[in-house]
Amino acid sequence: MKHKISLISRKIAECGKNVFFTGAGISTESGIPDYRSKGGLWDKFKPIYFDDFISSKKARIEYWKQKTELYQDLIQAKPNPAHIAIAELHKMGLLEAVITQNIDGLHQESGLPDQKVVELHGNTRRVRCLSCNKLFSEDEVQQRIESGDLAPECQCGGYLKPDTISFGQAMPVEAVEKAVEISGNCDLFIVVGSTLIVHPAAQMPYYAKENGAFLVVLNLSETPCDKMCDVLIQGKAGEVLQRILNEVVKP
Ligand code: NAD
Repeated sequence: MKHKISLISRKIAECGKNVFFTGAGISTESGIPDYRSKGGLWDKFKPIYFDDFISSKKARIEYWKQKTELYQDLIQAKPNPAHIAIAELHKMGLLEAVITQNIDGLHQESGLPDQKVVELHGNTRRVRCLSCNKLFSEDEVQQRIESGDLAPECQCGGYLKPDTISFGQAMPVEAVEKAVEISGNCDLFIVVGSTLIVHPAAQMPYYAKENGAFLVVLNLSETPCDKMCDVLIQGKAGEVLQRILNEVVKP
């Protein structure tokens, strides 16, 4: 492990374009469960598909009920040592971008500017009207839900939905294009806390590798990229990234 940490630290210091790709696993140490681990969100909630959200008020009420419960965890969650290590690298001028599958906004909370974060699945701190695209804060909409408006709608009559991508919903084209471009042009690509099985997000490490980037996978469990990566660490994101940061700072 020590040798791997030193190698990654050296690569971060040497490479111009360092990209992190993060999934739900980077936020478990902030108290937000991932989907697929035991005790994760899929043990608790049944996913609601986008078509059902559009066609059924019952589904919209159930969706917002789940979101309300998750939001309580989310507003209490703070960036953990893994988010903070990446933000420190940004302060040192060593970060090209973070591409994230997460919807929790914790990279920005840790100090990264919006321009450095590509959100592939949106951000649950925002709510969007599906008809006129008007944005609302989640806090504002949660207040309406608390006062009994269980499937809130916009003034225009459109359905309000957290600005995240549900199963069956189209991906945000601009974010995906940006992620493909960044992945295909980086020198170092570090995956943190993702099973790498949700597409098109999971293709990003392949774009990086095809361009000759050095590929690191840091995840607790196995991923489909374990065999092709240059360095594999099966460990906890917070602890490992802090160790890497320490070596970048003190070579
Ligand atoms: P996932 O739930 O499929 O997998 C998470 C991975 O992280 C697992 O392989 C697990 O072994 C690993 N992991 C868990 N804790 C870790 C830790 N401390 N250190 C290192 N690795 C750890 O997540 P995914 O592949 O990102 O995809 C699930 C989808 O669910 C995402 O697309 C995302 O949109 C959504 N999601 C987001 C959040 C969030 O925003 N925090 C939380 C749950 C799900």
